[in-house]
Amino acid sequence: MVEGPTAKAYAIEISNKFSGESIREVFVRSRKVLVPVEEIVGRRFVKSDSLGKNILFFFDCDVVIRVHLMMYGTIHVYEAGESLLKPMNRIRLMLIGNNRKIAVYNAPIVEVGPRDHILERLKLDLGPDPLSDEWDEERAYENIIRFQDEKIGIVLLNQSVVAGIGNILRNEILFRAGVDPERRVGDLSREEVRKIIHFTRELSRQFLELKIRGRSIKDMLYVYNRFSGFCMICGYPIKFYRQKPINRKTFVCENCQR
Ligand SMILES: [Zn+2]
Repeated sequence: MVEGPTAKAYAIEISNKFSGESIREVFVRSRKVLVPVEEIVGRRFVKSDSLGKNILFFFDCDVVIRVHLMMYGTIHVYEAGESLLKPMNRIRLMLIGNNRKIAVYNAPIVEVGPRDHILERLKLDLGPDPLSDEWDEERAYENIIRFQDEKIGIVLLNQSVVAGIGNILRNEILFRAGVDPERRVGDLSREEVRKIIHFTRELSRQFLELKIRGRSIKDMLYVYNRFSGFCMICGYPIKFYRQKPINRKTFVCENCQR
């Protein structure tokens, strides 16, 4: 599953390798093509960026492409003459430039549309992004406490609360903040919510840093996927279960998290 930092690392890599390319050919397999793809042909690729788990492609015109990789999507940047690593029928989007080409495989969402329309809708749908320059702690705080009756473990995965948090980050954030995912937001102290918000940004940045350096994120995981392991802080057994009703893998140290 792609989380915000993975999307951001892709955007950085694509920007580094593909910015400035003049688009010679576009191939899209998607129902969400709101403008003719020919509008991109002959245009210059300006940059890629991410917003939450979405990856955006910008050109020197009013068209933007939005990609969401969900579980199985991947993106590869190739040299122009290089052969593809995966079969053509897995490709949802391909951009061919003068020197390089980008292939997006298996992504469930590829949307091509007017830039302002897509960006405005994303900003309405998504909470603040901890990896964006526009990260807003106050807004994150207000968004969380709006869900007084819901479990914090569930609220953190809601992309309209904070954008980019996936299951790995949610487990690690709650462990670092010392908060049990089953607690209701209304029962959390102001300080606990602040801690959660602090670690949301902190861990998103650490995750991104490891991704950029091509390192495994295992080094930063204290509880996630530590099946039948013991807490690295206190030695207490890590409990594994699937939190209801979202049914997502959940790891808790019941000694460190209250
Ligand atoms: Zn512990």
